[in-house]
Amino acid sequence: MSFSYDVKTELSQIENAACCETQQARALLLFGRACSGVSLSLLTEHEGAANRYADAVALFSGVKPDISRSESGNYKVQVDDRNVTDAVMGELSAARNAKKQLCIGKIERDCCVSAFLRGAFLSAGTVTNPDVEYHLEFSCPSAHLAEELIALLQKAGIEARRTLRGGVNVVYLKKSEAIEELLTLMGATENSLLLMGAKMYKDVRNTVNRRVNFENANTARSVAAAGKQRQAIEILQKTGRLKELPEELRTLAEMRMENPESTTKELVEMLGGTLTVSGVNHRFGRIIKAAGLSDTPKK
Ligand SMILES: [Zn+2]
Repeated sequence: MSFSYDVKTELSQIENAACCETQQARALLLFGRACSGVSLSLLTEHEGAANRYADAVALFSGVKPDISRSESGNYKVQVDDRNVTDAVMGELSAARNAKKQLCIGKIERDCCVSAFLRGAFLSAGTVTNPDVEYHLEFSCPSAHLAEELIALLQKAGIEARRTLRGGVNVVYLKKSEAIEELLTLMGATENSLLLMGAKMYKDVRNTVNRRVNFENANTARSVAAAGKQRQAIEILQKTGRLKELPEELRTLAEMRMENPESTTKELVEMLGGTLTVSGVNHRFGRIIKAAGLSDTPKK
């Protein structure tokens, strides 16, 4: 199952206080597929969400509608009975804006804000698997509900944005912290923790990758340097010039040929710490120069 599905499972199982149940029901209805005096409907992949939507209709009208299955396996709640739609509209109409549109309105208590967001997500939300991408969105039925939702999220300290996609007003969150906060606020704490875990795993993996790359680069540099030193020493040996070098360089050359792959640091240790890494590098520089090679390291 998808991450979105798991979040809805967690949200649909939350037991609400009476004040919260009303706000969750309002959100489920307002953010459903249709919400008017003519029809109320929701189409969802999630049975729990469909159940909560049917509960919402029942809370305001006293009539619990049936849930049907579409051919594609989705769950559908469809209410065309005017007595039921009128009763629901009567409740929702308590909050209307200046243009007489149904709206979110003022939600007094923090617990109810959480419940409202939970209802909106159950009806209209999706969240991408955090292993793939950080993206959570609500498909809003109208521009003004999208704006109100953004304002409601902002009041809860969560930054969201709006875009129009295929004629649908989409409110979305892109930052992992914002998604984590919203999941926690809505009550999907288990999935919020999973998201944090996925993020931590990613961060750790990135750090490890950076370190491995860094170490690989260092190793490549040191292998290249040792190769060049051996090349220089071989040239000096073949041309009989090695024995003409000062003793400190001959000792180092011998040590390099006996330990062809050791790093400079290892050679320093073999020398008993009488020289520093840069001291040894300087001597190798002299050997390389004596062989007539250029001392610039290969990239
Ligand atoms: Zn409440």
